[in-house]
Amino acid sequence: MQGSLTFLGTGTSMGVPTLGCTCPVCTSADPHDRRLRPSALVRWRHSEDPASSRERVVVIDTGPDFREQALRSALTHVDAVFYTHSHADHILGLDDLRPLSFTAFRESGPIPLYASQETRATLERIFDYTFSPQATYPNRARLRLEPLADRNPIRGVDFIRIPILHGDLEIVGYRFGSAAYLTDVSAIPEESFALLEGLDHLVLSALRYKPHPSHATVDQALGWAHRIGAKQTWLTHIAHELGHEATNKTLPPGVALAYDGLTVPVTL
Ligand SMILES: [Zn+2]
Ligand SMILES: [Zn+2]
Repeated sequence: MQGSLTFLGTGTSMGVPTLGCTCPVCTSADPHDRRLRPSALVRWRHSEDPASSRERVVVIDTGPDFREQALRSALTHVDAVFYTHSHADHILGLDDLRPLSFTAFRESGPIPLYASQETRATLERIFDYTFSPQATYPNRARLRLEPLADRNPIRGVDFIRIPILHGDLEIVGYRFGSAAYLTDVSAIPEESFALLEGLDHLVLSALRYKPHPSHATVDQALGWAHRIGAKQTWLTHIAHELGHEATNKTLPPGVALAYDGLTVPVTL
């Protein structure tokens, strides 16, 4: 089945430009240097009846920029959301699923949100007015938290859980068909490499050149990109130390910085 992967946001937690910063990247005129918080979109139509079947839409992470990202991508519905972990730059836009969830609810019920136990606990705490059994606000989002399995089928596409590390925290990357999305990664457990064979597109986070305790550097990401051997590797979760054009000139063939709005075809 043919589908696509869109980068909704490719910036680090503070976004680029970073508030208050006047560095060359934050003041760059190149639109590729404007990066919203990290998120991605997977879309496809069921191959058995592409003419009549509606487009399926899965979002990975709903960060603080989700509303703007959904508008830019003209999203009219979401079939499911997968969360990588519970940090603010990946979850704080959850409430903006509200209007989309009302439509989904009328058609097929609450939008399913797939999250690890740890992420689920944080979502239930921060958005208790949505998830608490005692919640009474009538216009709360119609969302349903689902446990994350190793394989999570959504309308004919399996979203496969890829365990990765973000500092001391075990978080989740996802593989769907011939593509994989691993953000906020600082280490990849040996067992996870077996789940990353035969990729056309690999997405890896690469914050900057200088080491960081919970994020990969460009050089670390290049090492994994080489080992995994996807046809194309895209770097995301990028800080303001990395200018788009200047950095891309230094990267080997088959590796490039992603940018907001980039869409690539994927086989699902
Ligand atoms: Zn992050
Ligand atoms: Zn800056």
